[in-house]
Amino acid sequence: MQISKKFYFFVSMLLIFTLVMVGCGSSTIDEGVEGVEDVGSIEGAEASESSEGLEIIATVSIIADIATNIVGDRGNITYLVPIGEEPEEYEPTPSDFQRVSDADVLFANGLNFEGWLEQLLANISDIELVHVTDGAPTIKLVGQDLDDPHLWLDVKLIIDYYVENILNTVIRLDPEGEDIYRENADTYISKLQELEDWIVSEVSTIPEEGKVIIISENAFKYFADAYGFETDGIWELNAHEEGTPQQISRIVELVKDKNVPALFVETTVSRRYMEMIENETGVPIVGELYTDAIGKDGSGADSYIKMMQHNVETIVSGLK
Ligand SMILES: [Zn+2]
Repeated sequence: MQISKKFYFFVSMLLIFTLVMVGCGSSTIDEGVEGVEDVGSIEGAEASESSEGLEIIATVSIIADIATNIVGDRGNITYLVPIGEEPEEYEPTPSDFQRVSDADVLFANGLNFEGWLEQLLANISDIELVHVTDGAPTIKLVGQDLDDPHLWLDVKLIIDYYVENILNTVIRLDPEGEDIYRENADTYISKLQELEDWIVSEVSTIPEEGKVIIISENAFKYFADAYGFETDGIWELNAHEEGTPQQISRIVELVKDKNVPALFVETTVSRRYMEMIENETGVPIVGELYTDAIGKDGSGADSYIKMMQHNVETIVSGLK
């Protein structure tokens, strides 16, 4: 296993080296072939930036969607973790290594969300890594001295930090696009502000004592803090998913004690643990929420805004 990984990295690096050389060659055709030797990979990257736009890679679909709203057509945006796979338990592939190596910038959430990123980047020396949560206020995981990563479930944090950090980065890397990026960001922020106002008015229809979100991963802390809910989960992070009998019975007691009206599950997590709680308490699972990824095309939740709309509609109808 270890040997084959190393082999893939070796092959990937060889391939990248070849591509960089080819890239340099083609970018200097106009200036004459003798230029090839002095042209480093940095100049090659700059040439492709101005001609084809920024090559942007995000770790997850949520961040890629936000970046797409800011960058528009002036760049190419992709993400690493396929929709449907759990980002916190992801294992990068050799082609991820290749894609990240080729990108101008990698946007990550940080805060213990992409635990696999360090290993992926260990063999890439010159990648521009930006954590979109930089500067944001955080909430700790329960019982641990680690930050909870799920800041995106509070729309205000998207406006103040995710959009801001992405915008500043693309302007820095592509100053000529500043006006376009700012205009796109303004348009997106007004949509996000509309979403925020809608969420506040929707959740106000839930009776105060019913504002409790119980879900497998305790991912709704920022949402709960922003929109006035209590929340708990069977475990803290999917990366440490356990679903032990003790964790299950703790939530069973809590659901009974607080007369919780409904239970929720995530789109990217097995529902069997929550089904145990449903069976023990008779309280129904009323819907699936998007926590760590947007929905697939045609799911009705294939953007950050639509994912939040789906979540709030599901929460409101489940708890009313
Ligand atoms: Zn999560």
